Amino acid sequence: MKINSKKDSKGTANNNRTEEVNDFVYHGSKITANGDSTVDVRYRITKARANFANLWNIWKSSNIRIQTKIMTSLGFVTNDAIGKYEYNYSVNREKVHQQERDFAGYPTDYTEDEQIVQNYLEYIKWMEFQKTKDDFYPARPIKLHLSDIKASEIYRVLKKFPKGGNLHLHHNHVVSKSTILDFIYKNPYLLDNFYVRESPEPNKWRFNFYLNPPTGWVKVKDNPKYTKGVIIEHSTFLGVIDDKALSSPTISGLRWKEMNPLFSTLGSAIVNQINVSRFHMEAMFQSAIDENVQYFETKSPAYNKIYLLDSDPRFANKHGKHYVDNDLGEEELHMVEDVLYQFQQKNPSFIGYKRIVNSYKRTSLTLMKKDAEKALTLHKQYPHLVAGFDMVAQEDLGFSLLFYLRDFAELEVRNESLPYFFHTAETNWPAEYMTSTHVTDPVATIENTYDAILLGAKRVGHGIGFMSHPFLMEQLKQKKIAVEANPVSNQMLGFVPDQRHHPAITYIRYGIPVVLGADDPATFGYDEFTVDWYEAVMGWDLTLADMRHLATNSLQYSSLLDSRNRPQSPSGKTPTIFS
Ligand SMILES: [Zn+2]
Repeated sequence: MKINSKKDSKGTANNNRTEEVNDFVYHGSKITANGDSTVDVRYRITKARANFANLWNIWKSSNIRIQTKIMTSLGFVTNDAIGKYEYNYSVNREKVHQQERDFAGYPTDYTEDEQIVQNYLEYIKWMEFQKTKDDFYPARPIKLHLSDIKASEIYRVLKKFPKGGNLHLHHNHVVSKSTILDFIYKNPYLLDNFYVRESPEPNKWRFNFYLNPPTGWVKVKDNPKYTKGVIIEHSTFLGVIDDKALSSPTISGLRWKEMNPLFSTLGSAIVNQINVSRFHMEAMFQSAIDENVQYFETKSPAYNKIYLLDSDPRFANKHGKHYVDNDLGEEELHMVEDVLYQFQQKNPSFIGYKRIVNSYKRTSLTLMKKDAEKALTLHKQYPHLVAGFDMVAQEDLGFSLLFYLRDFAELEVRNESLPYFFHTAETNWPAEYMTSTHVTDPVATIENTYDAILLGAKRVGHGIGFMSHPFLMEQLKQKKIAVEANPVSNQMLGFVPDQRHHPAITYIRYGIPVVLGADDPATFGYDEFTVDWYEAVMGWDLTLADMRHLATNSLQYSSLLDSRNRPQSPSGKTPTIFS
């Protein structure tokens, strides 16, 4: 793996010219970056920290007699009773520190090269903290400081940090709206058939491709009203969020209400057009490379089916839409297979991609069963591409997992193996409060955790509510069920207004496997996964060892190695691109 940077990239921190670390060993591989931290800054810090570390190594040594001798000879310990007490107290205090690190269950030691990186990281974190402590970005709404975060020195470094996998993303909401619009505007055929239906509510605009549009739809092309900026504003949460939501940082219901319609604004109707679909996949993989992410798992609706625009009169009643996919969406999967293969030929550092087929938590029993069967069929036929099944959408308003028990039971008794990756406990309500209005399903959101555990979920999404259930936390730890934490999403949807209080840092320190995800970076409007890393690193005070642990988890708890029959080349069944 590599940290990519340009040879000539230089930056400043605190008016000192800085440089990046040239190389270090990470996951057993040499990682190279370049750049040039000021030798002065780097060595000064390294030297100071190294001296400090040596001192602590002596203190940690079990050979007290030698320690005492050394410390006494250094003049740190006097022979009087108070001096001895202080010395023993300090030894015991360090033991507690070490026990706390051991409790989390992952290595915190560094190679010599990693230590240099850690020192530099601590330095730039400290500088960022000094700069922002009176208006600490991770404690403030993301809208206020997104550009400041992206312009910061630590963001520049984090962007290049090898992140492993991003395991919590929703397929149609990863690629930035501006990238999708650039593609449409460059393609005269698409632009000519690109329509908008306005709404007085800023979050309820709709975009779509039609040959003969339905009533109320207006062509975007040559209409000065619909600039790219206006379209982006109306298709992202950062663009439409209003003062009421901004002043209600913990009212998740209100925030979901504003976010929900945006999933359909510039979503599947656009992304599933055949040309956009192919471009979208390439752009999605490219976004991984741009931020040094090596692997993706995205949640993809069971209804993603590609279409093309067809002037044949047979499709006039569908406004020119000709769906070329079957009900399983296999054509789209073949396209993924092809794009992935071509992309990896050009970018061997990208390890791969898998998808999790999702249904919705508000779907009926019959539909859920149909969606799960679809996921199972695809998982069996395409194990190298389809990792498993999830139920998505606003959990507080949806049906519980228990509501679908009969469906799950039918799958379980058939002894069919369908891995589950449920969105679970994305709530800040106590168990006694029923947030769902479904009278036939009087089960609290947090209780989905029991079912996710009992159904053998491999990972769970969000997990905000585990915080008030230490027994369940212990279960997750013992059963090694990973929690997908999505810091920016959790803040934007009103679950964690201040990242310093994000439960994921407790889970990490408690020894529950945690991976960092980004949920819907494009539809939220912050676009880059590194923003989640910034929030976590600054808000939770992560060290290099913590970051290394998160990146390692993201591969260890991925579905990367779940199938062996990966084809050497694509199936060749990719449909012809219509242009
Ligand atoms: Zn999600």
